[in-house]
Amino acid sequence: MEMRERIPDIFASRVFNEDVMRERLPKEVYKSLLNTIAMGKEIDAGIADIVASAMKDWAIEHGATHFTHWFQPLTGVTAEKHDAFLTPVGGGKAIMEFSGKELIKGEPDASSFPSGGLRATFEARGYTAWDPASYAFIKDGSLYIPTAFCSYGGEALDTKTPLLRSMDAINEAGLRIVRLFGDTATERIVTTVGAEQEYFLIDEADFKARRDLFYCGRTLFGAPAVKGQELEDHYFGALPARVSAYMQELDRELWKLGISAKTKHNEAAPAQHELAPIFSTTNIATDQNLLTMEYMKKLAPKYGMACLLAEKPFDGINGSGKHNNWSLSTDTGVNLLKPGKIPAENKQFLLVLTAVIKAVDEYQDLLRISAATAGNDCRLGGNEAPPAIISIFLGDELDMIVNSIIEGSEYSKKTTKYMSLGTHAIPSIRRDTTDRNRTSPFAFTGNKFEFRMVGSSQNIALSNIVLNTAVAKSFSDFADVLEAADDFDSALDKLISENLKAHRRILFAGNSYSKEWEEEAERRGLSNFKCSPEAYEHFTDEKNIALFEKFGVMSETEMRSRREIFFESYRKIKSIEAKTMLEMTVRDFIPAVSKYISELCEGVNAKRSAIKNIDCHCEEAIIESLSALLSKTFTAHSELERVQNTAAGKKCDEEAALYYMNSVIPKMDALRRAVDKMETLTARDAWPVPSYGDMTFRI
Ligand code: ADP
Ligand code: MG
Repeated sequence: MEMRERIPDIFASRVFNEDVMRERLPKEVYKSLLNTIAMGKEIDAGIADIVASAMKDWAIEHGATHFTHWFQPLTGVTAEKHDAFLTPVGGGKAIMEFSGKELIKGEPDASSFPSGGLRATFEARGYTAWDPASYAFIKDGSLYIPTAFCSYGGEALDTKTPLLRSMDAINEAGLRIVRLFGDTATERIVTTVGAEQEYFLIDEADFKARRDLFYCGRTLFGAPAVKGQELEDHYFGALPARVSAYMQELDRELWKLGISAKTKHNEAAPAQHELAPIFSTTNIATDQNLLTMEYMKKLAPKYGMACLLAEKPFDGINGSGKHNNWSLSTDTGVNLLKPGKIPAENKQFLLVLTAVIKAVDEYQDLLRISAATAGNDCRLGGNEAPPAIISIFLGDELDMIVNSIIEGSEYSKKTTKYMSLGTHAIPSIRRDTTDRNRTSPFAFTGNKFEFRMVGSSQNIALSNIVLNTAVAKSFSDFADVLEAADDFDSALDKLISENLKAHRRILFAGNSYSKEWEEEAERRGLSNFKCSPEAYEHFTDEKNIALFEKFGVMSETEMRSRREIFFESYRKIKSIEAKTMLEMTVRDFIPAVSKYISELCEGVNAKRSAIKNIDCHCEEAIIESLSALLSKTFTAHSELERVQNTAAGKKCDEEAALYYMNSVIPKMDALRRAVDKMETLTARDAWPVPSYGDMTFRI
């Protein structure tokens, strides 16, 4: 890797962005395309050919031979199918061609992507449609064209289409709000997202030596290491050389794709790290987060490592999440969640804040569902992760403002703005108006909200679809009232205070990880879905269908199909995990322990034949304990096998998912306990897979 290149030179060097467009497109075409991008308008068919041809020339100059429509089916990961630019021209010759038609529309065989009943397998047709609002880019010799993916009947089969629709919804409703405050300049309101990404790096050899890791992405067995994260010495610690080299290359690869990877550091758990980009428009942030995850995985083997993106690769130490920092701003550059110098007097800010509070309270179930996956179930509610209950943390100053509005009392502004560190060598620094609350699932952090429930391996689209649409609903409700008001100012005050009162229950500033909060939340009537299948049940509740249909974000059919897919993927993931456990038990652990017992027995015999009556107390005790555990393991294995077979026989995915949650997971836990206990009694060399200590401390 040459380190001499300057970052500004390589940044976005593989992206067909506005600079490249300006340079390569006729002025009129460039303007029209820009308008399409900025305003979320439909592309003018006439210019597609010109854009396609310019894209192709640019791509070929950068070494590309193929193009692919790149889309986000409901698998959680991205999909691509590559075609060469090649077109035969007769006489055995070919030219490099790429038409507007090929740019705008693709037709991959959709039959193997999840559709949740939207499409029978014989109706294989699916369409991909160019999304001009996300830049095309070059990767591995292909021109990547971000697209939406839909069925023959026009239903969205992806995460991107509803995301774009939700951005339109919040734009329309948001414009009504800013107009009320006399803003006539803003033409579009966009939501912005910065997704902080946590991940683990372990030695590749360890990864390959464990079937649970390479089939399931997380360990299903493993006794805790004697050292975990209790010393808190890994957090922000110095980067190990191998990790540092990996991060440098990762940054550079992402920069080339125009992804502004900005912050990197060690996280709390051993072997855990984080990368944060600079925020961007939500659809772009979503694409970029998916690419970031892809590169994290792809580059690790080059450094002899494996990257784990699972939410809970190791029991007993922190899992990984994705902090979805969300805000909204106008195309004139105003962040609508910026409180300004005197937040108490900034009525537009207070209204927007109230809109978010109302949205999160009314659609807390949807937000929870957006972070509900089999993998994230292992993390949420753990002692480092937000609990399964949604609540909002506002911070001291906003809390006081909100309270004074609700109680109708005078608000006295806090005065301490600067803090001195007690030494002249260090200048006084400005104190943030609020301290951090690390335990809140939805925290206000100065000029944005941070949704911390999202799992590290998830696509962030659904969380943002929910946020955008729910806030659009608040905006639209508020605009209905305010547009009809005779006295705007008093109507505004009344609206804010009524809504803050009505949705006060969602605000919580204490420790969200405590038992007391769980009880308190129940008293407040907040929902608490501990496991994903419980949450999925509510996706198609009447109020939720009404929400998405009102704003044209998802039809009832599209929602029902997604609900199906939630259950289906939960079931499949749990089934693979159960089968992996069964296999590892019989083919790895039982043979290893049984062999170790034989060795101990042989040792005892050898000792006794050398010296009659010699003390073999130690060996005998271990032989006895391990033999008992072996039986226990075998019984637990049979039990798991039985419930797994029952689960496999269920026709309905929903029923199967609930059965996994209620009946299979407890059996998986029991089997794990028996095996982990054997691990602690077996010689290190005799244990067939790398231990927790090896995996988390060997980089
Ligand atoms: P914190 O220390 O609270 O995590 P940072 O400033 O490090 O805050 O930001 C965390 C993430 O939030 C980054 O990805 C950053 O780009 C993003 N972010 C900052 N401002 C906004 C905004 N207005 N909208 C969306 N994301 C934002
Ligand atoms: Mg953060």
